[in-house]
Amino acid sequence: MKLKEAIEQLRSGLVGVAEPQEVQAMIRVICEDVFNYDPVDVALRQESELPEFAQEKVNDIIARLCRHEPLQYILGSARFHGHKFKVTPAVLIPRPETEQLVDLIVDENPSSDLRVLDMGTGSGCIAISLARALKFAQVDALDVSRDALAVARDNAVALKVKVNFFESDMLSPQPPAHYDIIVSNPPYVCWSERDAMDRNVKDYEPGQALFVPDNDPLLFYKAIAPYAARSLDRGGHLYLEINQRFGNEVKRLLEAEGFDEVRIIEDSFGKVRFAAAIRK
Ligand code: GLN
Repeated sequence: MKLKEAIEQLRSGLVGVAEPQEVQAMIRVICEDVFNYDPVDVALRQESELPEFAQEKVNDIIARLCRHEPLQYILGSARFHGHKFKVTPAVLIPRPETEQLVDLIVDENPSSDLRVLDMGTGSGCIAISLARALKFAQVDALDVSRDALAVARDNAVALKVKVNFFESDMLSPQPPAHYDIIVSNPPYVCWSERDAMDRNVKDYEPGQALFVPDNDPLLFYKAIAPYAARSLDRGGHLYLEINQRFGNEVKRLLEAEGFDEVRIIEDSFGKVRFAAAIRK
């Protein structure tokens, strides 16, 4: 099978599965990850013969994408903050919005040797990206899921950073510690919002990492905020990813916990998506 035939089969097999632009992006990732052809190779080597396994692989990918399985789970990896992270169905697929959270933290914290905690680390994408981008940071990360921690540990090894991972449920209070930065992208989607979500999210991604009860949408923030208030040193920063519907509520909660300079920040799509605050 030639490269151009593989691309043509993917293009026609995926009509209606996603918007043409998204299909184009998927084909680019498939060429790169499965066949090792970067976009320049793809442009120049349309006639190249692919290895034996290519036809079976293309069929398998098309069949799975037609069942709305996320491409990142099919390939076992996702790109985040300039790096390739291993992902399995035990972890949420890193989102581009969350890259902005990492950028915000890196931009606002230029000093070195900061002590950082990531609560609910999943694939480890936030913790590992911060360990790579902040100068000599000492990064801890926790998650309740042992399977997620195994993925996060593999990612830290592959991306050559030291992160201390802990198995811990952020809903039950941990002993306070000393941090300069605490960050979390906890579950924040209400169960009632589930119906409106894409099938690739609701049928495949871990519900445990996504959903909160409708009658307690701030469940995780109510645990994180008091813990951060005790564990951040004076002047330390708390950064959260939040549900766009609850910006005001999160702001009030952080103020009630005694945080200063509480900000609610929009993502690049113009949606309320982050909260930041400083420990007095
Ligand atoms: N941003 C994710 C989504 O919309 C949700 C992430 C989360 O619950 N922390 O699917």
